[in-house]
Amino acid sequence: MQNGKLVTPDEPTIPFIAGDGIGPEIWSAAKVVFDAAVKQAYNGNKKVDWKPLLAGEVAYKKTGEWLPQETLDTLVDNLVAIKGPLTTPIGKGHRSINVTLRQKLDLYACFRPVKYFKGVPSPVTHPENVDIAVFRENTEDIYAGIDFSAGSDEATGLLNLLKENNQLDKVRFPKTSNFAIKPVSSEGSKRIVHAALDYAFRHNLKKLTLVHKGNIMKKTEGGFKQWGYEEAETYGDNVFTMNEYAEIKAEKGQEKADEALTAAEFAGRLIVNDVITDNFFQQALLHPENFDVVVTMNLNGDYISDALAAQVGGIGISPGGNINYQTGQAIFEATHGTAPQFAGQNKLNPTSLMLSGAMMFDYIGWHEVATLIEQGIGDAIAEKHTTMDFARNVRGSEELSTSGFGDFVAKNI
Ligand code: NAD
Repeated sequence: MQNGKLVTPDEPTIPFIAGDGIGPEIWSAAKVVFDAAVKQAYNGNKKVDWKPLLAGEVAYKKTGEWLPQETLDTLVDNLVAIKGPLTTPIGKGHRSINVTLRQKLDLYACFRPVKYFKGVPSPVTHPENVDIAVFRENTEDIYAGIDFSAGSDEATGLLNLLKENNQLDKVRFPKTSNFAIKPVSSEGSKRIVHAALDYAFRHNLKKLTLVHKGNIMKKTEGGFKQWGYEEAETYGDNVFTMNEYAEIKAEKGQEKADEALTAAEFAGRLIVNDVITDNFFQQALLHPENFDVVVTMNLNGDYISDALAAQVGGIGISPGGNINYQTGQAIFEATHGTAPQFAGQNKLNPTSLMLSGAMMFDYIGWHEVATLIEQGIGDAIAEKHTTMDFARNVRGSEELSTSGFGDFVAKNI
């Protein structure tokens, strides 16, 4: 990072974690495509030095640790990395390695672009209307992991605190309730909204939507909405928020507010609005074309990104990145799990990891590479060359293995 910007050398070292289960298979298939795209884009003038890192089950078997310190240090040293899925260790005291990585490296933005690839089987009539960038806050909310069991000292302490604050009668069954704490801060909210706003401006998009359940969780999710608008308003005349709309409406009436909105749209200002989460799910299904960038807290974001991915048939192929835009630290990753029952069969779809790679190349400024990867995958699917998961739902498809799909895409780049 130099002056807040990533500077990428011509031969960057990029660490990768192949992952558990189907991880090594999808990684091999994706790497073939990455190298082909880099070669095609730069004809040998730029190339990637891939550096393998240990994490997950493989690491545990070799070192006794699920996430060795050396892996963490290398991730910090090299800033940008890519990973396959990792097994979540089962047992007391173990947290998901993904969650640990996000928290240790403060990767506060989970960025998941959701769009349709022609030919992908989808459950909706017009999946092509979905083209939405989801920014999910990655470090706060109910994911903080502050969970108390009923009857524990912590739960008793919490009940005492509630009692002191005259809130105890709000807990319907105090003795048998488990509790979780939901921290949502102004800093945490503003930095994710800032990331989403920057993305909207970089891509010349028209609308950014804050999704929240602030009508019920007034301080946490309502706070997110308020801080989101405050952050948007720091962009001055480049944005028009529905806060401004409400103020004009209150002072001068609906007609004037509508005129101001139309003028702002005409002037190309980014429109920032907010939608209550349940309504968002409905609207995103009925009118997905009304959303460009969506920014929300951790739990909402988890649900929303999977629901939107399903809408474009892409739950197994949707990509993701976990990013700290301030330090530059980023890990791009397949969004599905390790699918252990398919491990070693060379059958499942490597597209999620390939598209995560495209996102990574875009992030480091190698936009040509990203475009080539996306085009290669798009063409392969449109020509009905797919892995088992799509082939069985698309008539006339030629079913390819994981590695076969990688080779097919790479050859056509
Ligand atoms: P999973 O995503 O591994 O598999 C669920 C099903 O999705 C599979 O049976 C398969 O039918 C389908 N699927 C998954 N990946 C696919 C692909 N690339 N192509 C086609 N179909 C695909 O979810 P799970 O079984 O709940 O989890 C297995 C393990 O993975 C667990 O240990 C879990 O904690 C872990 N996990 C890791 C990540 C991650 O590393 N980001 C994410 C989710 C789950």
